[in-house]
Amino acid sequence: MTGPATPGVTARVPAKVNVQLAVGGPRPDGFHDLANVFLAVGLYDEVTATEADELRITCSGPDAAQVPLDRSNLAARAALALAERHGRSAAVHLHIDKDIPVAGGMAGGSADAAGALVACDALWDTRASREELLEICAELGSDVPFSLVGGAALGTGRGERLTPIEVGGTFHWVFAAADGGLSTPAVYCEFDRLCAAEGRTVPAPEASPALLDALRTGDPKALADTMSNDLQPAALSLFPSLADTLRTGSAAGALASLVSGSGPTTAYLAPSAAAAEDIAQTLRTSATCRTIRTTTAPAPGAQLLTAR
Ligand code: ATP
Repeated sequence: MTGPATPGVTARVPAKVNVQLAVGGPRPDGFHDLANVFLAVGLYDEVTATEADELRITCSGPDAAQVPLDRSNLAARAALALAERHGRSAAVHLHIDKDIPVAGGMAGGSADAAGALVACDALWDTRASREELLEICAELGSDVPFSLVGGAALGTGRGERLTPIEVGGTFHWVFAAADGGLSTPAVYCEFDRLCAAEGRTVPAPEASPALLDALRTGDPKALADTMSNDLQPAALSLFPSLADTLRTGSAAGALASLVSGSGPTTAYLAPSAAAAEDIAQTLRTSATCRTIRTTTAPAPGAQLLTAR
């Protein structure tokens, strides 16, 4: 007879939108310097870690078929990194319940990495410090540290050096996932190509003081007036139909419409929850996108839902 199954540990992790993404020229290491203002939004993946004989990944949710289930999955890489640092086996079953659009510029893979770290740390009782978790996150990818901390933060360097930002209110958002994905490296290549073609010198990226103020005061109109995404022209060049979706959202009452990160998810800042529902409804009937979601920000970072 087998005993009762060991209970798993579940971590819930938010998606993000970049309310400002200022991109510098390419660095010798191929990355770009960024001034990246992250805002965590209330769309979540859940990662459940359960003891197992070997490292195994499973995934459920509407985009599950697009998620790799081998060791290239960022959640698997996170578990392996934590296990290696603590001299233990990474035998664990990680189940990802995926609600964040895949390859949508909302840091879904990064969220899963942060969730796997927090869940494995609790399951294995490795008691990693916050600093250690942040260090592993930065090794795994530029957006992973923010998935751990959530809220709002300015990311500098390649986006991984975080300074928390105070947020003075709740912002209402609509997100439209496009039919198809965009590869983040391809969007950066297109950014470089467009800059070269236009003979543009790319200035050092800097956070907008007016935008940081808008977050601090919680003023949606001021945030809308100051949001920007330097990757948007590159994303639109690779995915031209996004321009129609952005126009539809603006005409439906969005204070501002922009591509989320490297896209192709588009984001709409609404003046109220009711306005967000109206914008979502218009986007749904326009049939230019795959799924439309309304939510609020800021959202907390990676959090355990079940304690052992
Ligand atoms: P970002 O906003 O950080 O640039 P993204 O949201 O555009 O990323 P992701 O959903 O993180 O994109 O996925 C990008 C690619 O990473 C996917 O196409 C997939 O092949 C790979 N990947 C690895 N692990 C995961 C994961 N846990 N979830 C989703 N994709 C993953």
